[in-house]
Amino acid sequence: MTKRFGCTDVGVNCNWTTTADSEEDIMIKIKEHANNVHGFKEIPQDLADKVKSAIKEQ
Ligand SMILES: [Zn+2]
Repeated sequence: MTKRFGCTDVGVNCNWTTTADSEEDIMIKIKEHANNVHGFKEIPQDLADKVKSAIKEQ
């Protein structure tokens, strides 16, 4: 099962998407992207919850 996430899934105007095999892996990639591109040193808990609920399986 592949996990898929894109910034637009949480209402961010950014065309970045990513996939990973597990929720842990995709959260790592999302944190890196949020840090490098969106300037988040850490993802706040409410945003992390939003991100997790927006992750789709395919
Ligand atoms: Zn983004």
